[in-house]
Amino acid sequence: MVQRYDAVVVGAGGAGLMAALQLAGHGNVAVLSKLYPTRSHTGAAQGGIGAALGNLEEDHWEWHMFDTVKGSDYLADQDAVEILCREAIETVYDLEHWGLPFSRTPEGKIAQRPFGGHTKEFGKAPVRRSCYAADRTGHMILQTCYQQCIKHDVHFYNEYHVLDVLIEQGRCAGVVALCLATGEIHTFHAKAVLFASGGCGKMYRVSSNAHSLTGDGMAAVYRRGIPLEDMEFFQFHPTGIYKMGILLSEAARGEGAILRNKLNERFMERYAPTLLDLAPRDMVSRAIYREIREGRGIDGKNYVHLDMTHLGKKVLDEKLPDITEFARTYLGVEPLTHPVPIQPTAHYAMGGIPTDVEGRVVIDEKNTPLPGLYAAGEVACVSVHGANRLGTNSLVDILVFGRRGGRHAAKFIHENDWAPLPAQPEVGARDMVSRVLNSTGKERAADIRDTLQDEMMDKASVFRDAQGLTALRKKLGELRERYRQVKSEDRGTCYNTELLEVIELGCMLDLAEVLVESALAREESRGGHYREDFPKRDDATWLKHTLAYQTSKGIDLKFKPVVITKFQPMERKY
Ligand SMILES: Cc1cc2nc3c(=O)[nH]c(=O)nc-3n(C[C@H](O)[C@H](O)[C@H](O)COP(=O)(O)OP(=O)(O)OC[C@H]3O[C@@H](n4cnc5c(N)ncnc54)[C@H](O)[C@@H]3O)c2cc1C
Repeated sequence: MVQRYDAVVVGAGGAGLMAALQLAGHGNVAVLSKLYPTRSHTGAAQGGIGAALGNLEEDHWEWHMFDTVKGSDYLADQDAVEILCREAIETVYDLEHWGLPFSRTPEGKIAQRPFGGHTKEFGKAPVRRSCYAADRTGHMILQTCYQQCIKHDVHFYNEYHVLDVLIEQGRCAGVVALCLATGEIHTFHAKAVLFASGGCGKMYRVSSNAHSLTGDGMAAVYRRGIPLEDMEFFQFHPTGIYKMGILLSEAARGEGAILRNKLNERFMERYAPTLLDLAPRDMVSRAIYREIREGRGIDGKNYVHLDMTHLGKKVLDEKLPDITEFARTYLGVEPLTHPVPIQPTAHYAMGGIPTDVEGRVVIDEKNTPLPGLYAAGEVACVSVHGANRLGTNSLVDILVFGRRGGRHAAKFIHENDWAPLPAQPEVGARDMVSRVLNSTGKERAADIRDTLQDEMMDKASVFRDAQGLTALRKKLGELRERYRQVKSEDRGTCYNTELLEVIELGCMLDLAEVLVESALAREESRGGHYREDFPKRDDATWLKHTLAYQTSKGIDLKFKPVVITKFQPMERKY
């Protein structure tokens, strides 16, 4: 079945909705989402969106830019970071004008709070930059953007799972998707496609990410010969609920919460004397792991405490209501009176589909765009986060670059016709589905996924080395063999979620391989990528982005220079 649209957006999180809003009115636009839009992971974002509004104290976008570049361990492209920090301000005001219910100062301005790595005067002290709606900022952004999309008649295909992207004669021609309700395969023939399908944190056992974050968009384009950029950089957020990984936002530390080890020490004093608990996430996560390794985890176990007991009922009720409730519900701990057990949790993919600052997908080290193909949000790598993302900068990224991508695509669909469809557009997607439904193998996706998540957690998380990564590479090869034997007990067409889990697992296996190859190659430590066998940053050799291509002979790595404009790389002290 073929449907024709001027533009198709894949994903209905913050990035997809923002892009769709720019396209609305410029042609017929469809948003395809495997989830109902307001269930997208953007809705789980808690702490806030960073913008130098200066509502509570002096602040400037240049300071925000400096913090972002330094936070990225100098791997971010500075032209893109400048756009991010300048346009953050108008983006937040747009949200306000659309009715987003921000928390307010007594005078009625948008309230702001400190967040990790955000400082005044180029690193002197924490600054209040994160704009928030209690600890439900992402929920409010998602609802607000969705309402705007409804108002502007954006057409939604909910519970459509995109399986493949069509590239013909060097142009993007559309996507192929499975309708969950019927099991039918649909071709969406489009002049422009914008991927906004989010991250891939479900590769790891302990993760803050929703079950749906399996990297489908990254895998789909990668399988079509488009590279993935900087996949070795995966962020571990310091404060996930012990064993479960459910996030306790950095907003807690922004409001004054303190990390403590079994001796009740505020151990961040040793690792980041100026910013303490508000140092960037890569550093805090490493500090927690070190404390645990050196025997200072609570009760000798692999967790430490997040202490909010001194914050008082008013702050917890008004500013951190959701995460307080999470601690009560999931751990049975009362944060008013007891510290909360936490451990680092897999949180955010800094890498993804390479794009330029207009959201166009680029396919080589010279940044050559692939006409008609766009990406924005966590699925993309612009790169504004480099080797480590600062808290609150993803919500800015998805909206600023969702908007820029949407605007550029709107122009593109005016100026261009449809690329021809390939002769058999659905053949790849149909194969993928029928292989699983007709499989006579004995393997279950859930077993392979369990092993994948444990192995990734063990060998490719906060600390890595050649030995572990090489063993992991071998293990992934075995898992790939087992994956060929995987079957779905459910052979039906209506809401066959088991089939989708198999397909999602295939995406995660591809991305795990890319992550491991890229991490093995990068013999240095930078941001979220810490090699115990190469503990120093090595700018002379490694101040460059990785581009990983799928080829018939395996993964081919190429490298691309980093754009440096205002800030030369320096030692990173906090
Ligand atoms: C618990 C948590 C708290 C966070 N808190 C903050 C915060 O306070 N501040 C901050 O800046 N960042 C925060 N982040 C990060 C930030 O929320 C995310 O990076 C961001 O929201 C991603 O937005 P997105 O639009 O790119 O993707 P998502 O919101 O993840 O949306 C992805 C969309 O793609 C669709 N999709 C995926 N695969 C397919 C497919 N195969 N076919 C069709 N559709 C598909 C999904 O249905 C969904 O609609 C947090 C993240 C988590 C997990």
